[in-house]
Amino acid sequence: MRIGIIGAGQLGQMLGFAARDLGAECRFLDPSVSPPARVCGDVIQRPFDDAAALAELAADCDVITYEFENIPINALQQVEDKVAVYPPVDALRNAQDRLDEKRLFEQLGIPLPAYHAVATRADMIAAADVLGLPMVIKTRRLGYDGKGQYVVRATADIDAAWGQLGTQLLIAEQWVPFDYEVSSIGVRNVDGEIRIYALSHNVHEDGILRVSRSPVDAPLLAEKAAEYVRRLLLHLDYVGVLALELFVKDGQLLANEFAPRVHNSGHWTIEGAATSQFENHLRAVMNLPLGSTANHGHAGMINLIGEIPDRARKLGESHLHDYGKAPRPGRKLGHITVLSESAAGRDALVEQIYKTVT
Ligand code: AMP
Repeated sequence: MRIGIIGAGQLGQMLGFAARDLGAECRFLDPSVSPPARVCGDVIQRPFDDAAALAELAADCDVITYEFENIPINALQQVEDKVAVYPPVDALRNAQDRLDEKRLFEQLGIPLPAYHAVATRADMIAAADVLGLPMVIKTRRLGYDGKGQYVVRATADIDAAWGQLGTQLLIAEQWVPFDYEVSSIGVRNVDGEIRIYALSHNVHEDGILRVSRSPVDAPLLAEKAAEYVRRLLLHLDYVGVLALELFVKDGQLLANEFAPRVHNSGHWTIEGAATSQFENHLRAVMNLPLGSTANHGHAGMINLIGEIPDRARKLGESHLHDYGKAPRPGRKLGHITVLSESAAGRDALVEQIYKTVT
C-alpha cells in the first residue's frame, strides 16, 4: 500500500518509520529543502496546494493523510474526489479556526474556558469587560506553539495587543490559572474501531511542549478526557489519530484545542505503548485493526529544543530520536523517551535528563 503524506517534518518521519514496519510505502509533499521525512520516502518539493503535485500524489497513492495543520483546505479538496483523505477535511477545517473549534466543543458538551470573538479594537475592550483580566488574545488561524498570542494583563496592554495582532481575526480567552495541562490521544479506523491512549501530563515552556509524562494518576480525569475524545471522533466521522489538549483546574477539565494529527505529546508511545500513535494512525487510515494502546509502564518524553547537546547522546536508560534538522533557537530537533516501572522512577529519570539537556 502506498500512503501520501502532506508534510514531511518530524511527524512525517515518524509516520514513515512506522509505515516501513507495516510494509507500506510513503510519498510526501512538502516545500522545504531537506525535510526530516526525506529519509523515509520520496518528497515532492512543491507548495502544499500545488495542483500538479497534489494530482501526482493522488494518482500514485492509495490514501492521503497529513501531518501538518496549516495546510490550505483547498489542497485536500483538490484530491478528496480522487482518493480517500484522512482525517476528514471537516476536522481540519474546525481545527484551523479557534472560533469554529470552540463552537464545536460547546456543541459536543466539552467544557472550555470562556471566550469572546474579536474583530475590532472595541471587541477587545468588550472582551476584557466580559472575561476579566488577564485574558489571552490569540489569532483564530495559523497559530502554533504559542505563536500569535498576547497576554493582556491590564487595560493598558490592549493597545499593544491590538497593535501586534489587530490585522488578523482574533479570539480572546479567559486566562486559566491551571494546575497542569494534559492531552488525551485517540484513534479511530475506517470501520469505526476506537482506541484511546493513557492521559499525558504536559509541561510547556514559552508555549512549546517541553516534557510529557504518561500515565497520569487521575483515573476519573482520564476517563472524562477519553469520553470527550470519543465525542469528537464520532461527531467528525474521524479516521486517524486525534489529540485533545486540556487544562486541569480544581479537578475539572477545560478543553484548549485539538489537533487532527499525530501529536508531540504522544511521542512517548513509540517506546511507551504497545502500539505507537504513528503505527495506529497508519492502521486507521489503511483500515487495519488498531493495535493496543496500553502503556508499557510509566513513560516520560523530553523535547530537545534549539540544539542537541553531545551529552544527550551519551545517556543510558533512554531512547534518543534525532530528527536530523539544522539547529535553530526554539526549533524542535528531537526528543528523548524514558521508561520506568514506577511513576517515581520515571519522574527521577525525566528530571535528571531534563537537567542534562537544558
Ligand atoms: P495554545 O497555542 O493555545 O496551545 O497555547 C500554548 C500554551 O499557552 C498552552 O499550552 C498553555 O500553556 C498556554 N495557554 C494557552 N491558552 C491559555 C489560557 N487561556 N490560559 C492560560 N494559559 C494558556
